[in-house]
Amino acid sequence: MKSYRKELWFHTNTRRAFINITKDVEKCVLESGIKEGLVLVNAMHITASVFINDDEPGLHHDYEVWLEKLAPEKPHSQYRHNGFEDNADAHMKRQIMGREVVVAITGGKLDFGTWERIFYGEFDGMRKKRVLVKIIGE
Ligand code: ZN
Repeated sequence: MKSYRKELWFHTNTRRAFINITKDVEKCVLESGIKEGLVLVNAMHITASVFINDDEPGLHHDYEVWLEKLAPEKPHSQYRHNGFEDNADAHMKRQIMGREVVVAITGGKLDFGTWERIFYGEFDGMRKKRVLVKIIGE
């Protein structure tokens, strides 16, 4: 069995952002030389997510509105976690959007449904953060 590991780095200019990282993951799969296996992609931070969904701007706007309803950023004082930090909302948004995805690799390619794409979800950005890509197979 072969294994491969890589870290992808992100630094968003905004507190929240959704970034399509499908091409980055495809590049990792190619680099790994693995034809049959599994790829795990996970955020290495507790205020960011990796998830799979549609690459459609309307939907991403809807996520932003929905997540702000569930866990509004402000007022910061509404959360017990805030005080030293101001990112309680980001922890909650990440929880609901998930930590990681696992995708099958078949014939050297991501074995996706038609509209599936991989996204990095940033909820407390404007600093350097990492995503781990781990691939196992042969
Ligand atoms: Zn925090």
